[in-house]
Amino acid sequence: ATTFAGKTVALFGLGGSGLATVHALKAGGAEVIAWDDSPESAERARQQGITVADLRGADWSSFSSLVLAPGVPLTHPEPHWTVGLAKAAGVEIIGDIEIYCRERAAIAPDAPFVAITGTNGKSTTTALIAHVLASAGYDVQMGGNIGTAILSLQPPSRERIHVVELSTFQIDLTPGLKPSAGILLNLTPDHLDRHGTMENYAAIKERVVQSADLAIVGVDDTYCEAIAGRRTGPMIRVHVEGHGHAEAELIARDAKVFEGDTVLADLDGIGSLRGAHNWQNAAVAAATVRAFGVEGERLAAGLTSFPGLAHRMEQVGRRGRVLFVNDSKATNADSTEKALTAFRDVHWIVGGKAKEGGITPLLPLFDRVAHAYLIGASSEAFAQTLEGHVPYTLCGTLDVATQKAAEAAAASDAVEPVVLLSPACASYDQFRNFEIRGDRFRSLVAELLK
Ligand code: ADP
Repeated sequence: ATTFAGKTVALFGLGGSGLATVHALKAGGAEVIAWDDSPESAERARQQGITVADLRGADWSSFSSLVLAPGVPLTHPEPHWTVGLAKAAGVEIIGDIEIYCRERAAIAPDAPFVAITGTNGKSTTTALIAHVLASAGYDVQMGGNIGTAILSLQPPSRERIHVVELSTFQIDLTPGLKPSAGILLNLTPDHLDRHGTMENYAAIKERVVQSADLAIVGVDDTYCEAIAGRRTGPMIRVHVEGHGHAEAELIARDAKVFEGDTVLADLDGIGSLRGAHNWQNAAVAAATVRAFGVEGERLAAGLTSFPGLAHRMEQVGRRGRVLFVNDSKATNADSTEKALTAFRDVHWIVGGKAKEGGITPLLPLFDRVAHAYLIGASSEAFAQTLEGHVPYTLCGTLDVATQKAAEAAAASDAVEPVVLLSPACASYDQFRNFEIRGDRFRSLVAELLK
């Protein structure tokens, strides 16, 4: 990132995006002093040749900027200690998306940059837009709050479309945000613990709409409707019939996306886009890709071939009547609840590093479970919760659990038995992250299907 050449930058938070940011800044000629409260993260950074020093003792007058990792609170509910130090020294506070925006403004201000936010559906919509554009032959780079850190993507260029998911934290740290297409799906009072009041949360999200060349807004809640009402520039409003009552250019109804009487997209029979919430995602995606000239058959082909998000109720295979579903992303009971609700006759692979409360909140759904296969550190505790409700087997590892679950499901007389990995737990007792856990499951299933 050449826009920081010659400057000294403080960076807090050495996770994946923090590391990518340091390397990008250094490659562009900046000096970076980085810190992370976790000794492991700090050590990993040191091994990569990064200067790691406790920023509490640093000379803040030497810094041009403080770069915060996503998730480090800037304003609510309590600002992080680095924020106080930076403010006292008059140092600007930004995130990696801001660095990207400055770089884009400097080297390719016309580079297509699609920014997606909202309370729900961000990742699905981001992945869907990227998938449809890629399947129509465009050079697409996807990242931000999903997958790859933005500064690890190929650089912005006129011939390349960046499709970027933004969290509220990330928007808050990006004063120079100016996407070519800015998407706001919906706003509901989630995550208020992290962002203070609803007004504050909505005001941060609104910047994606107001700063965009083209805004695409789901207008089915009162917050988004009000935001759309304040927009003066080009805008496409999207409405799902039966939800809210605002005027809109595109309307989703009965698994179809309409513009007036014309059907822009037919979602009927697309397994990965089932449900009214996905019609909103698909309608917004259709509006977005049309701005790049993708419609008609090319849009239909892209939507139909969308596999859904990896690790989120991802259908990874089928053997006879048995369906295999990878929901490794479900790291708490709340997320697993969605998966258990979606299926019956479930052969449930569950466990890992348990969250508070374990799987007790799922008790009302235990009648959907034919058998549970326990893995990881939570095994003993979960066995106690299941006792007397659901038959279970202590399997230890995911490999054993998958094998046993597949055998039992195949022998069951249910119409569509489901082998479901939805652990309701963090992965790190056995896997570095949920992606690696889900990838392992997918490859075990692939072996079984051979
Ligand atoms: P995010 O990235 O915003 O967390 P995801 O695309 O990962 O959202 O979807 C997470 C969950 O939210 C899904 O499993 C689904 O239950 C729900 N969801 C998806 N899209 C929407 C939407 N447009 N409106 C409401 N809920 C949604």
